[in-house]
Amino acid sequence: MRRWKAAGPLGLLTTLAVAWLLAAAVPVPMYPRRVARAWLGEDGRPWSCYETGVFGVRDAWWQDVTDSYAGLTPAEVVERHSAEQAHAAGRRAVADGRIDLTSAPPSRGTLARGRAGPVEVVGSDSAFGWPRPCLWYSVRGELTGTTLVNDRLVGGVRLFGVPSSRGRDFSALPLRPIWTGLALNAAAWTALWLLLLTVPGAIRRSRRRARGLCERCAYDLAGCTGQTCPECGTAQLGFEQPGLTPDTDR
Ligand SMILES: [Zn+2]
Repeated sequence: MRRWKAAGPLGLLTTLAVAWLLAAAVPVPMYPRRVARAWLGEDGRPWSCYETGVFGVRDAWWQDVTDSYAGLTPAEVVERHSAEQAHAAGRRAVADGRIDLTSAPPSRGTLARGRAGPVEVVGSDSAFGWPRPCLWYSVRGELTGTTLVNDRLVGGVRLFGVPSSRGRDFSALPLRPIWTGLALNAAAWTALWLLLLTVPGAIRRSRRRARGLCERCAYDLAGCTGQTCPECGTAQLGFEQPGLTPDTDR
């Protein structure tokens, strides 16, 4: 009767299984992008990022926008790019809903605060999990003019298709952890497993007790006077003993 001890391992397994199932089964959306970022990275490079998400899936397109603005300093690039994002967001807001603009770096992924920027100039981060994103991979590449080349998968296992940082004709399993997401999801799934493992048994035992049956084997205890079941030997919580029933005090 120590089934509840399995809840922790089951919670962790469920966390990973759900993240991988989402990665394998849910198409990562291309549009609409709901968050636009432009910021000066700790590496001194001007970064741009567009994010979107659906149930259990978060996706971010990022790019070093230095080459889009010839002759400007990185700080000026960020300023100019932010203005262009704001202009585009105004049009987008009319077309297909709100888009959030921010100058904060992403909280997770390739360009998360405190993480050294990649050598690549363009890429995407895809994170999966429920209730929170907890595993992610990245696709990184190069730009020749406006053409993406040499896209490669980082931190994931390809299932099918050709990984692309801007296209979605591929699927991959994420291997990189998002620790806060892993902890929160594992806690949530462990709680659910605890309920599933303990509640049905508790209800069954309580029903059997109420009907005067052994909690464990359902043997009819009518007329029994010992404190254990004569059939299976299990000690009985609500065993009726002559002279010890609560009614004698009333
Ligand atoms: Zn019994």
